[in-house]
Amino acid sequence: MSKERLQLPICTSCNRPTLPKENVVKFYCPECGKVLIWRCEKCRLLSRPYKCVNCGFEGP
Ligand SMILES: [Zn+2]
Ligand SMILES: [Zn+2]
Repeated sequence: MSKERLQLPICTSCNRPTLPKENVVKFYCPECGKVLIWRCEKCRLLSRPYKCVNCGFEGP
């Protein structure tokens, strides 16, 4: 068994690893354009806010 594990992107809203089967969206921060924001299906459905770690931009 390999110790290497697939790096799952962390949802920016809930800080949980996203599952490949989920309908995950990724986009760059609309404010600074430097940070890649990941949002899992659940957070999109619930319109949970996210916060950019670089510029602090918050929004859905
Ligand atoms: Zn999430
Ligand atoms: Zn930003």
